[in-house]
Amino acid sequence: MCIMTILRYTSQFLAIISKICEHVFRFYTQMLRLFNTLGRKKVPFVPLSKESVSFYTCGPTVYNYAHIGNFRAYLSADTLRRWLTYGAGLTVDWVLNITDVDDKTIRDSREKYPNMDPKQALKKFTEYYENIFFEDLKSLGISRDDFFSNPRATEFIPQMQDLIRKIGERGFIKIIDGSLFFDVLQWSQVDSYGKLLHLDLSSLKSGTRSLADEIEKDDMADFALWKAEKEGEPSWDFDYNGTNYRGRPGWHLECSAMEQDIFGLPFDIHSGGVDLIFPHHEDEIAQSSCGYACEPTRYWMHNEHLLVDGKKMSKSLGNFYTLRDLIEKNHSPDSIRLFLVMNHYRSKLNLTEEGIDSANNVLQKFHNFIRNIRSGEGGEGCLRSHVLELIKAAKSDFTMAMDDDLNTPVAIAAFHGLISKLQSFSPFSQEERESIENFFKLGSDVFGVSFLPVSSKVPPEVTALAEQREQARKSQDWAQSDRIRNDLLTLGYEVRDTSSGYEVFPSQK
Ligand SMILES: [Zn+2]
Repeated sequence: MCIMTILRYTSQFLAIISKICEHVFRFYTQMLRLFNTLGRKKVPFVPLSKESVSFYTCGPTVYNYAHIGNFRAYLSADTLRRWLTYGAGLTVDWVLNITDVDDKTIRDSREKYPNMDPKQALKKFTEYYENIFFEDLKSLGISRDDFFSNPRATEFIPQMQDLIRKIGERGFIKIIDGSLFFDVLQWSQVDSYGKLLHLDLSSLKSGTRSLADEIEKDDMADFALWKAEKEGEPSWDFDYNGTNYRGRPGWHLECSAMEQDIFGLPFDIHSGGVDLIFPHHEDEIAQSSCGYACEPTRYWMHNEHLLVDGKKMSKSLGNFYTLRDLIEKNHSPDSIRLFLVMNHYRSKLNLTEEGIDSANNVLQKFHNFIRNIRSGEGGEGCLRSHVLELIKAAKSDFTMAMDDDLNTPVAIAAFHGLISKLQSFSPFSQEERESIENFFKLGSDVFGVSFLPVSSKVPPEVTALAEQREQARKSQDWAQSDRIRNDLLTLGYEVRDTSSGYEVFPSQK
């Protein structure tokens, strides 16, 4: 064998080894790691199936407009969904439930429709707020099509009753005055209760029960699985051990029943706000572990609170904002979304109007950068390898940040860093432009707002004004040119000079 052949085989062998090493390195360094509330540390995320990820998020109780803090939970979940989809290339079966029966929906539907049948009143009332909720989500970049399912509690009554019977068969139910309670203290002899919080059950008052859906910590012990019928409230028949316990489900029950029915247990990821850890998620673990003999999920993801002007949102403090309140204050849904997702989901976040404005500035900066590189068309034609290397390095920084428990502040810094590094390289070749735009497109997909300027239809009168300004500019009538620019701004449009003429586009605020 000649020396050239040996060298060729050796180099091929080394190339294969290097490829394997690269894959192994990537597996260990760039695998998504999520903070799991269950073990309170970041762990590699390995889905149960190679085909799809099963992902459940506790949804809204539809009795009013959701406040902006509620949306932080759904947007944090959507960021994870998007990263699994666009970063890891996985299919995500995302379920978000709708609570359409509880203390508040019943109270308010009766008040709104006092003469209607209670069940019909509840349906009419909750459908109205459910539609508003999905309209708001749509404004924030989440459409109904993004979900695998949006189950309503009232459509899962038989599944919930079935779970209660299973819990009863194991002997963990107490019946008091026609209501059925989960016996937490007895269950804690079998399995630990309070796994997410590391609760010490010795501090609980034995025998305490609560019929309220939102239980105060001091009152925590047994929780209602099924509540006895009350005069004038919607109710369902429930045959339990030969007796009809007509009534309606307790709030915690629906999530356990839906997860089992839709995914089967265990499923991959469960998310919600930190305020749901206790008692809601602790109760969910207890119910599922007892009734289905399986813990519901493998990864618990919880987002921190949204504060407003440094304080917890409350109607009495006057710092309670819905999405529509913020839009009325002239903030775009895109800048609201970016503000909520570019701060890390596990950090407390203080909502201020300045904060939303700064998110809007980030978007404008990205759009202007892309407009600038587009306007340099026809410039230098040669492809520079070091420019491509800079883009590749930025993408790698972005990926590593997202893989590190969705570290969105660091991920977005990769775009800022690239913009400053590329300033001196303009104009760009066609391939360089495409490579930059592809990276910004990935950012748009993952953050759920467009990092690329969106071209939109400009009305003819605006185009005519922009053309007049162009003529004024060509005749060096700068005063007239500035006047028209201001007129365009008043109409909500900006004009920018480019190497091939000018460009007119909607102003971003
Ligand atoms: Zn839930």
